[in-house]
Amino acid sequence: MPEGVAEALRYLAVKVLAGDLVVLYALKEYLIDGESPSTLSHKYRIGKFKLRGYIQRVVEKAGNYRVAQAIVRSSFNTLATLTPIVVKVPGGYYCTVCGKTLTMNPERHVRLEHRDLVDRVVADCVRLAKRSKS
Ligand SMILES: [Zn+2]
Repeated sequence: MPEGVAEALRYLAVKVLAGDLVVLYALKEYLIDGESPSTLSHKYRIGKFKLRGYIQRVVEKAGNYRVAQAIVRSSFNTLATLTPIVVKVPGGYYCTVCGKTLTMNPERHVRLEHRDLVDRVVADCVRLAKRSKS
């Protein structure tokens, strides 16, 4: 698997585990369903620049637009059914794996403290994508 594919998947897995599912949905609707960024920015209440930033990140990591499409298409179902490990609580975030209230950005927490879990999710996505191709 090219490193860029793993990087793009890791980026998406971290977002979802950190409770930010909107990015996954917005990317899927942009890359696969062909929705415009302005429609999506309105629908999901994300700033247009922020949304373009997410799209650009994934496309850059993937290497190009077509690869990014293939990644999102093959991993969407796996990622969309993940249970986020970070939940919003009054005054901040709570990690259900550590049982701690987070003092740092939830994505950063997931990336630094739960790397194993992120790697497992990425491996699942790759495995399921291979299976659906054959
Ligand atoms: Zn944690």
